[in-house]
Amino acid sequence: MNEAIRPQPGIMDIALYVGGKAAIAGVTNIVKLSSNENPFGPSDRAKEAFQRSVHQLHRYPSTDHAALRTAIAEVHGMDPARVICGAGSDEIITFLCQAYAGPKDEVVFTEHGFLMYRISALAAGATPVEVAERDRTTDVDAILKACNRRTKLVFIANPNNPTGTMISAAEVARLADGLPPQAILVLDGAYAEFVEGFDGGLAVIEARSNVVMTRSFSKIYGLGGLRIGWAYGPQQIIEVLNRVRGPFNLSNTQLEVAEAAVRDQDYIARCRTDNARMRHWLALALAELGIPSDTSMTNFILARFSSQEEAEECDVFLQKQGLLVRRVASYKLPHCLRITIGDESSCRRVAHAIAQFKGAK
Ligand SMILES: *Cc1c(COP(=O)(O)O)cnc(C)c1O
Repeated sequence: MNEAIRPQPGIMDIALYVGGKAAIAGVTNIVKLSSNENPFGPSDRAKEAFQRSVHQLHRYPSTDHAALRTAIAEVHGMDPARVICGAGSDEIITFLCQAYAGPKDEVVFTEHGFLMYRISALAAGATPVEVAERDRTTDVDAILKACNRRTKLVFIANPNNPTGTMISAAEVARLADGLPPQAILVLDGAYAEFVEGFDGGLAVIEARSNVVMTRSFSKIYGLGGLRIGWAYGPQQIIEVLNRVRGPFNLSNTQLEVAEAAVRDQDYIARCRTDNARMRHWLALALAELGIPSDTSMTNFILARFSSQEEAEECDVFLQKQGLLVRRVASYKLPHCLRITIGDESSCRRVAHAIAQFKGAK
């Protein structure tokens, strides 16, 4: 151990991120419902673009991402100059913290908020500030109360992971308008596409200079393995983020696949419809077994058990059958399991197994 070699303050406070389980020793025919992935994968057009991209592997990619930004902006009715693309929205969360928060600054997020907010804040040397939620839902008044002169960033996921709940556009606007002048509100829209008719809060952004949204190709687009995300916000903020972004942060393959994927909105609409249908079915099936959940706006359900012990026993029971769901104790929800909405047969399998678990007790 070399005592003289030490990382920046805050780094050793970062707990290593543990992703959703992907395998169980000795069990085959696994159904992975632990990482909110699209069970159908990406659209055929995205897969074709991936194949075509093999011919460009020797070429450096575009540094300005113009073609992808134009496609995103056309599909969403936005200004392409105010779109920035990253290696997953995770990278953009990192850019925001790196560019706007440092030692003595505070980064605010909610009690059951996404773990990357804390990790990126600590990595930037800033102080993470966690705010209580009300009934597993973002509490605007509590966030406003937690803000002060040191607050630089406020992250909310809307809808939120792992709770599945969301707040209204009016509440988001009230939050944006109540922040101290030096603070940026970041609307994490990783699940926005699952909400019929929802644009992630575009009107709130267009009318203000202090709101940014982040979006992802990892969830409804079925491209988690490829790592592509983007953000949209005021020119002033996007220009700052582009300074900390590496010029070649996305490969040709990422750029071309994402462009094909975003232009295939018929596929996204079909995935949204199927997800809503199976989510409704699974929530009802669990409710009939005495397992409540809040109305989810996403591609997962947060199933609430009577205790941490029961949730863990159920998880062990499911694992033995090859069904992988997500424990969420690290999100301060130890009595819950987060279950991704899979295809119809996966949903039926998980509901059947939980019924067996309940019957066996
Ligand atoms: C999955 C997820 C992300 C997206 O991550 P990527 O880096 O785009 O894969 C961002 N925020 C929340 C809340 C998520 O659940």
